Amino acid sequence: MRILLLLPDGRIHKVQLGSLTRSLREAPLTLTLLAALVPEDLQADLSLVDESISPVPAEERFDLVAISALTGTCHRAYHWADHFRSKGIPVVLGGVHVTLRPEEASAHADAIVTGFAERSWPRLLKDFAQGALQPRYHDPEPPLAGLPMPRRDLQERFGYMMPNTVFATRGCKGTCDFCTVPAAEFGFHKRPVQDVVDELRQIPARRIAFNDVSITEDRDYAKELFTAMIPLKKKWGGLCTTRIAHDDELLDLMARSGCRYMLIGFESLNAPALQGIQKGFNQPASYAEVMRKLHSRNILVQGCFIFGFDHDSPSIFEETVSLVDELRIDIPRYAIYTPYPGTGAYTRLKQEGRLLHENWRHYDTQHVVFRPARMSPEDLDAGFRWAHTRTFTLRSMLHRTLAAGIWFPVAFVGNLAYRRYMHRLQADPDRILVTG
Ligand code: SF4
Repeated sequence: MRILLLLPDGRIHKVQLGSLTRSLREAPLTLTLLAALVPEDLQADLSLVDESISPVPAEERFDLVAISALTGTCHRAYHWADHFRSKGIPVVLGGVHVTLRPEEASAHADAIVTGFAERSWPRLLKDFAQGALQPRYHDPEPPLAGLPMPRRDLQERFGYMMPNTVFATRGCKGTCDFCTVPAAEFGFHKRPVQDVVDELRQIPARRIAFNDVSITEDRDYAKELFTAMIPLKKKWGGLCTTRIAHDDELLDLMARSGCRYMLIGFESLNAPALQGIQKGFNQPASYAEVMRKLHSRNILVQGCFIFGFDHDSPSIFEETVSLVDELRIDIPRYAIYTPYPGTGAYTRLKQEGRLLHENWRHYDTQHVVFRPARMSPEDLDAGFRWAHTRTFTLRSMLHRTLAAGIWFPVAFVGNLAYRRYMHRLQADPDRILVTG
């Protein structure tokens, strides 16, 4: 059985280096984990393609094509699904967007997978082999003990800045109104710590990345995991919330376990805006302390800010850019508030008649898709691009990264990558769609 596992193009992360296309992000686990879950007795021949870094083998013959879609990539997923189905090849669609919009995805697929795939994907393959494919496979609980090792051997070797990704937890207990994790009702689940440690031991590389959306979500679990990682002497990065700064014991353990960088969603310097999106645990008055505590442990911070909340006035751009410089955020990242389907933000803005369209292609945090409360869509887009331009001048980049002095080469290269992205953003002719 020949199976193509496909991740559609994520244009934000793509960068061309001569003839080599690389993705600026960590290697996603989706395809390698799906490959590992294919039952051995099927003796399947697997092709893994991430369209961000490799062309899709559009004319090759497969027995089955499985595509994973986010909201911002679902138009590409549907394009490829329609293409392969027109050739008589059955297509399976899965991924967060499919869980959020199952009826829509079903129109482009022979079967869809919603919720978690650990049990349903192998079951689907066995049904397919017996000619009994069902239209929908749904599993609300992920069985996370004893998972097979992701098939990193099938992954494009030089495609990613960080090729070795692992995960320890799934989901998050938070309820932030723009986030697809609570919208998809993923809950919060943990792998046995010993399983994670065993997997880390088997990865020969010293540097790894956790792709958990909030690795410190469960304090006791995080303490157990970080303690078990200390003897492994790995260097790692991941994602956590600002709450980490209130927990010195956990921070110390995190640093001792080899943590070198953290992505943190500060989201806004506007406290009422944070209350409004149900992320009130972020306290702008403590951001300086968050940075000081991470920097003092030699942990580099990739800090994310979102523009376009209802409390944001046009001054938000300048205020945020100044704060980013003042806090010495090593690698800043800006996004536009995006009401992903199924989220609280989507329901509210739709009810208020403020969505500009539902063309999911632009629901990628880089395009304005709604009418902001205190500025026009054009002002939001212009401010978002202006913030990039100001933050990624060589002077500003050097000022922040040299002053912080944490892992300078990594911080500077990270800034250069966003500077490159900023040029692409300025040249993008397709900024605001008014209708779908
Ligand atoms: S934005 Fe982060 S903290 Fe909020 S629900 Fe999503 S993953 Fe959790």
